[in-house]
Amino acid sequence: MAAERLSTGIPSVDRLLKGGLETDCLTEIYGEGGSGKTLFCLEIAVRVARSGRWVVYIDTEGVSVDRLRAIAADDLDAVLDHLLLSTPKSLAEQGRAVAAVGALVRDRKRPVGLIVVDSGTYYYRLSLSGPDEDDARQALSVAVADLVSLALEEEVPVLFTNQVWRSIREGTLEPLGGSFLNHAAKTILRFDRLAGNRRRVVLLKHRSLPEGAAEFRITSTGLEGDGPG
Ligand code: ATP
Ligand code: MG
Repeated sequence: MAAERLSTGIPSVDRLLKGGLETDCLTEIYGEGGSGKTLFCLEIAVRVARSGRWVVYIDTEGVSVDRLRAIAADDLDAVLDHLLLSTPKSLAEQGRAVAAVGALVRDRKRPVGLIVVDSGTYYYRLSLSGPDEDDARQALSVAVADLVSLALEEEVPVLFTNQVWRSIREGTLEPLGGSFLNHAAKTILRFDRLAGNRRRVVLLKHRSLPEGAAEFRITSTGLEGDGPG
């Protein structure tokens, strides 16, 4: 059976993804700072909230209300009404936030149409190379596994953003989070910065689509991408 898709609202990206995000799995986005990961999450969150469903947004970065206002425009109040914002201050709190989201989605009192975790690896990164690294890896894996089950069982798409590290040997930007995250994410997108406000989305992994790429632009009112995918 073909999986349901959640439109991103960005035509070039929807073409790349044959309609949008799959609704029963975790989509990982990684890319360097300023590549548009957060704006992409906000853009989709606003679409879902506008449609009257709820968005759970686990935010470790401090969402810019200005950007949210710019994207939501006249619908800001309605969008805020459907946004359940959680701001964990540690990896342990992030894990508890994920568990709470599970309970909220499963009790089905509020139809949740999207779960965002941005950035999913901020606190994890802080503990790398420290004495807590193994515990942090375990905590991240548990949270990701919880999200994967939730997406699958409740058909709620999960958007999980990831940070990068530069491989000196290869000269490439690599995602954090290790192989567990790479396996758990059924779709993996890399965002690249191009000149000016242009950004490239590279589809690196998908259950049913080949690799490919699309572009979008960051504008004052949101993300636009109508050029050839
Ligand atoms: P990080 O890893 O640091 O969280 P990110 O990938 O989440 O980065 P975003 O916050 O989504 O990045 O995007 C920030 C980018 O968007 C910056 O390059 C910034 O210049 C650009 N940007 C933000 N607001 C506007 C605007 N109003 N018009 C054009 N570009 C903008
Ligand atoms: Mg960000």
